[in-house]
Amino acid sequence: MQGLCSVVIPSYNEEAMIERAAWAVGSVLTDAGIPYELIFVDDGSRDETWARIEASAAANPTVRGVRFSRNFGKEAAILAGLGQAAGDCCAVIDCDMQHPPEKIVEMYRLWQQGYEVIEGQKSSRGTENALHRLAAKTFYSLISAASKIDMANASDFKLLDRKAVDVLVRMPERGAFFRALSSWVGFKTTSVQFDVREREAGESKWSTKSLIRYAVNNLASFSNVPLQFVTVLGVLLLGIDVIWAIVSLIRRIAGAAVGIGTGLGLLLMLIGGACMLALGVIGFYLGRIYDEIKRRPRYIITSVCGESPEEN
Ligand code: UDP
Ligand code: MG
Repeated sequence: MQGLCSVVIPSYNEEAMIERAAWAVGSVLTDAGIPYELIFVDDGSRDETWARIEASAAANPTVRGVRFSRNFGKEAAILAGLGQAAGDCCAVIDCDMQHPPEKIVEMYRLWQQGYEVIEGQKSSRGTENALHRLAAKTFYSLISAASKIDMANASDFKLLDRKAVDVLVRMPERGAFFRALSSWVGFKTTSVQFDVREREAGESKWSTKSLIRYAVNNLASFSNVPLQFVTVLGVLLLGIDVIWAIVSLIRRIAGAAVGIGTGLGLLLMLIGGACMLALGVIGFYLGRIYDEIKRRPRYIITSVCGESPEEN
């Protein structure tokens, strides 16, 4: 089976990379004799990214572009690209070429053998500083425990069969976490190892703040454990409270002078803290429920360019 392979490329302020990525991915797939289309999703870039995508699409019939009205994040860009894709299978690859394009061929061959979800797994994390590595490790062990999917070496570099793509695109969930959802959907899955390369041009789009937000949100979208944690903490505190009260009472009956003021103060502080924590967690999930029920679109497309293969 020689099906069409759509390659989705989320791009945010990647003006220096569009042509290079189109060329790199295109030539690899052409050499391998794989029919393909490239879908660049401009995630509200503020540089010349969209102009470069339009120029590529004008020069090259295999290139298409989708432009967001503002920055909606990589997850939204991936889902939008998958939504536009016409292929029998769809690959997702970073624009900065940190994911080696020749691996798409390997993934495609596995797809031809009948695999439906082919995950790209990092065999090395490239050059990240120690702090980043530690943070990433903590996040992935938490999310692996929460989602019961081993995510330590997961990436967004994947190839999905049309069946899996259709399921993902139709998911009503707003706070989608593509990396975990693609394993969550199941299907016949395998993985391919790759080495993370140096970014070719431009700079990483993640600030520490955006990474923390990303970690917390995705953790919450896969787990309710923090909510239970608060309940447990509450029960624990209550238990301590009761024991403390009983002990104080006994000591009082025995005639000892109990510094009840100190004890009470401490207890009050503890309970106050726990309550605040609980409210914070509940508020956080409430906020997420609010976001979900608003049913706002995940992204807004302002323009598209290039011809979809179906129109030909
Ligand atoms: N990206 C995006 N929207 C964003 C941030 C990033 O579409 O809000 C894209 C970016 O253009 C790139 C990919 O996601 O193709 C990975 O981003 P980056 O290289 O900055 O992340 P890193 O490799 O540092 O994790
Ligand atoms: Mg990168």
